[in-house]
Amino acid sequence: MLDQESLTYTNTHFVKSAAKLSQCPMDVLREVAFAGRSNAGKSSALNTLTGNKKLARTSKTPGRTQLINYFQVGEAPLCLVDLPGYGFAKVPVAKKNEWQKELGNYLEKRDVLVGLVLLMDIRHPLKEFDNSMLDWAREKQMPVHILLTKADKLKRGPAQNTMLQVKKAVKDLGDLVTVQTFSSHNGEGLKILHKRLNSWLLPQDSDAEAAPANAGDNTLNNTVDSNDD
Ligand code: GDP
Repeated sequence: MLDQESLTYTNTHFVKSAAKLSQCPMDVLREVAFAGRSNAGKSSALNTLTGNKKLARTSKTPGRTQLINYFQVGEAPLCLVDLPGYGFAKVPVAKKNEWQKELGNYLEKRDVLVGLVLLMDIRHPLKEFDNSMLDWAREKQMPVHILLTKADKLKRGPAQNTMLQVKKAVKDLGDLVTVQTFSSHNGEGLKILHKRLNSWLLPQDSDAEAAPANAGDNTLNNTVDSNDD
């Protein structure tokens, strides 16, 4: 079932919300988490990726504003995970602290997590939250793919400049981090995102014991450009 080269992201469905690590589904083979500050464009990106305008709204629906929202891609146990944005404007401080603890727990201990998509508004990249996620990735040696969202808000020149600046800022992380521009409004960068997710969720040496845990793929590196769509 997994020997395909590409997943059909339009065939994605909501599985469950988990408030803590122990509630995360047990039978997942691999998962990729999406994180970003509130308003970074995470819901829009997930909706664009899956071609479902309502998909990520589940994460914002009262009762489902839990910590970790699971979406399965296709029939195999491969998941996209929507993590809460920071900001939590309407949430009491105690609740925020609890969520931060659980988020840390999830990032620290979730074994099937193979990569993190970190979304940043292209006009406001590398804020405190983003840098702390990058610090965590460095520590865990977890691959990160940065989506510079709302690229349609900038002209091509400034957008490319921002991408270069961000690449420069994460240079010390080497191949662990890739960067691209993205727009949910015009679909810019969608193919690159597909490629990155495929490379994480469908590794070439699918589950081969011989492959070291962090043996990255060579299909993308941090010089990835965003104009092949
Ligand atoms: P979230 O809080 O990270 O889930 O952010 P949302 O996806 O809800 O987006 C926040 C705001 O940014 C909304 O008003 C969106 O319409 C807008 N937005 C999201 N993606 C884009 C984009 O690619 N281009 C533009 N111009 N606006 C966007």
